[in-house]
Amino acid sequence: ESTSESTSELTSAQDAEMTKQEQAAARVAELKGQEVFIKRTTGVFKCSNCNYEYKESEGDQMMIGGLNPPGTPFASLPSNYRCPTCRASKDSFTEVVEEIAGFEVNQGYGFGTNGMTGGEKNLLIFGGLGAFFVLFLAGYGL
Ligand code: FE
Repeated sequence: ESTSESTSELTSAQDAEMTKQEQAAARVAELKGQEVFIKRTTGVFKCSNCNYEYKESEGDQMMIGGLNPPGTPFASLPSNYRCPTCRASKDSFTEVVEEIAGFEVNQGYGFGTNGMTGGEKNLLIFGGLGAFFVLFLAGYGL
């Protein structure tokens, strides 16, 4: 009898552990569901043929035959628009998007840094370090 009792105790302990792990797994799945990668437009469209980038903020007036002033949205370019460097058609262009990883509920918090892309965060961090370094070296100039 004592053997069967200890066996059932063991089983219930295993069950409890299983339940705990299942709950943990469910929580992980729930959090993963909340994590989103927000795509943000950049106003840059890249030619898939030659990697020329059409920047909406710059237009293409600097290119040969370029007629589109700065601020011209890519969508407003004529349908017969061609890549100024390789003559690929307009539909060869794909929009460049930035991904922002994180939880949607968090992205409004902080000093706007939660909405930054990885590249922007790196720039902020290393730019800050660089600025401090320059300041530090400037101390020797005194
Ligand atoms: Fe091109």
